[in-house]
Amino acid sequence: MKEVVYEGRTFEPYITNDKIQTRVQELAGQIMNDCDGKNPLFLCVLNGAFAFASDLFRAAEGIDAEISFIRLKSYEGMGSTGKVKQVMGLSENIKGRTIIIVEDIVDTGNTIHNLVNDLKKEEPADVRIATLLFKPEALQKPVHPDYVGFEIPSKFIIGYGLDLNGKARNLKDIYVLKED
Ligand code: IMP
Ligand code: MG
Repeated sequence: MKEVVYEGRTFEPYITNDKIQTRVQELAGQIMNDCDGKNPLFLCVLNGAFAFASDLFRAAEGIDAEISFIRLKSYEGMGSTGKVKQVMGLSENIKGRTIIIVEDIVDTGNTIHNLVNDLKKEEPADVRIATLLFKPEALQKPVHPDYVGFEIPSKFIIGYGLDLNGKARNLKDIYVLKED
C-alpha cells in the first residue's frame, strides 16, 4: 500500500480493510450475543459511518435487526467545531426500542453525547454505541462506547467513510496524516 495525498497533505496506510473486516465480524458477534431477541435498530450516523454501518449490519445477519439513518455534522476540515448540527433527523418511533448508534469515530465525544441525549427524550429501552474508531485522549464528554473497533491516538485519519472536507471516503483502507 502506498501513501495518498489530499489537499496537499500526505497520509500513510494505517488500518487495512482486511483488519477492519476481521474486527467488524467480532463486533457483530458481540452485538448478536447482546441483542438477540431485542430487534435492535441500528442508527447509522451519516455521512462518515456509512461504510462501517453497511458492513456491521450485514455481519449481524444472525439476528432480527433494522437500520435507519441520521445525519449530523460537527467537523470542518480537520477540527471539531464543538457544535453539532442535525442535518437529517430521525423518522422512526424509537420508544421502547434497543438502539445501536453506529459511528465512524468518537473524537471529542460531542456528537455522540448530544445524540444520546436527544434520543433519550424519545424513551428508547436502551441506547448503545458502536464506533469503529475511538480517540480516548481527545474525549471531552462522559461517553462510553459499548463496541469499539480500534482505539487510536489523537491523529487525523481518513478512508473507509472518513473524510477530509468530503474527500477520501471511498478509500478501502484507513490512512493517518503523516507528520514530518
Ligand atoms: P466528535 O463530536 O468530536 O466526537 O467528532 C465526531 C465526528 O467528527 C465524527 O463522526 C467524524 O465525522 C469527525 N471526525 C473526528 N475525528 C476525525 C478524523 O480523524 N478524521 C475524519 N473525521 C473525524
Ligand atoms: Mg461522523
